[in-house]
Parts: sequence; C-alpha cells; structure tokens
Amino acid sequence: MGKSKWTKKDLDEFKNYISDKRKKVIEEVDQAKQRAEDMLKNDSTNAIYSSHMADAGSDLVEMEKAYYFVQRESQFLKYLNRAIDMIEKGTFGICSGCQELISKERLMEVPHTRSCFACKSKR
Ligand SMILES: [Zn+2]
Repeated sequence: MGKSKWTKKDLDEFKNYISDKRKKVIEEVDQAKQRAEDMLKNDSTNAIYSSHMADAGSDLVEMEKAYYFVQRESQFLKYLNRAIDMIEKGTFGICSGCQELISKERLMEVPHTRSCFACKSKR
C-alpha cells in the first residue's frame, strides 16, 4: 500500500556509495582535462602542421575523446549531485509513479532515477 520508506541505514549506504562515485568522477575529469591541456601545450604549434600528419590526427582524436569524456562525466556528476540532493530532501529512491521504493540494483545503476523499472517501462 505504498508509502514505503528507506531506513536511515539504507540512505547512509546510498549516500556513501554516491559520494565515492562522485569523488572518482571528479578525479577522472580532472585527469582528462589535464591530458587535453598537455596535448594542447605540446602539440598545437608544431605537430598539426608538421609532416607527421598521422600523429597530429591521432592527437586530435585523443583530444576529442578527452573532450567528450569530460562532457559525459560532467553530466553524470550533475546526476550524482541531484541524487544526493534527493537523499537530503527524502525523495530519493521513491518512484514518482507508484510511490514504491525503487530497487537497489536500479539505484546503483541510475542513482538519480525517479521511477521504478515497471513505471519506466510503461511509459
Ligand atoms: Zn513505480
């Protein structure tokens, strides 16, 4: 009959899990940014116009990869922040469709989700 609630212990667990994940993502994003910057510094003046066009090309691909990685991870970071926000507001892990608790497995995959698998599939 709905109105299920997470225990404090469950919520603490989620919060730790998400915070850990967030820390890791922030580190990875920093590293990727650093990599891209290093590439720019080292290569922009000579490599692209050098005779080693193949190298310059693969550097560009690497840069692009780093760029998209940062984009994607930054988006993910926003989701993680939102999830933590939801934990604090008490709306975390509760389906907005049926008010039931969302399964832990699903929350570990998509912590910011607002609907359980059944409701998500219905839409
Ligand atoms: Zn639901």
